[in-house]
Amino acid sequence: MNISIIVAKAKNNVIGKDNQLIWKLSSDLRFFKKTTTGHHIIMGRKTYDSMGKPLPNRTSIVITRNTDFEIPEGHFVVHSLEESIRLCISKNLGQVYIIGGAQIYKEAINICDEMLITEVDAHPEGDVYFPNFETSNWKKENVEQFQKDENNEYNFEIVTYKRIKQ
Ligand code: NDP
Repeated sequence: MNISIIVAKAKNNVIGKDNQLIWKLSSDLRFFKKTTTGHHIIMGRKTYDSMGKPLPNRTSIVITRNTDFEIPEGHFVVHSLEESIRLCISKNLGQVYIIGGAQIYKEAINICDEMLITEVDAHPEGDVYFPNFETSNWKKENVEQFQKDENNEYNFEIVTYKRIKQ
């Protein structure tokens, strides 16, 4: 099973503020939707709360320590990242996306195979950050560039990093 992180981060690694995203990047949202639709998506409880409900046409797996946490039918609550991965393996999935937030990325960066990182050309203020990673462990495979326009607040590029297997 291929485990991918998908994230949009600023130059200073900021990914959010006050439990929200901090930019309008329509082309990136379109990329996120196209990439994750039809798949299982793993997220922390705060990211789930920030969306309010499961995203359409995707199966949500929410990680929380709360044993009473409830989620609509057809979606899943688990209590650790490992449990989320075990669940996906038991379902024989070929692909799963880890969609945040900061707490979950920090653990997931050690176990994922691939990272799809939208690198936003901005230095915003925020309160949650994507973890630093050792670039020598990763191979940059694909870069697609997008220019700022009326629907995209900043220039950005979408970069695919594949883990170099030791
Ligand atoms: P997370 O979304 O990572 O959720 C954190 C919660 O996950 C914890 O409070 C806990 O839930 C649960 N959790 C974390 N680790 C564990 C564990 N080991 N075992 C069990 N449960 C665990 O929160 P963050 O605050 O880090 O990130 C949210 C922010 O990130 C928001 O601002 C959001 O907008 C942003 N974001 C940005 C993205 C981007 O691409 N730019 C993508 C996704 C989010 P509980 O408290 O219920 O026990």
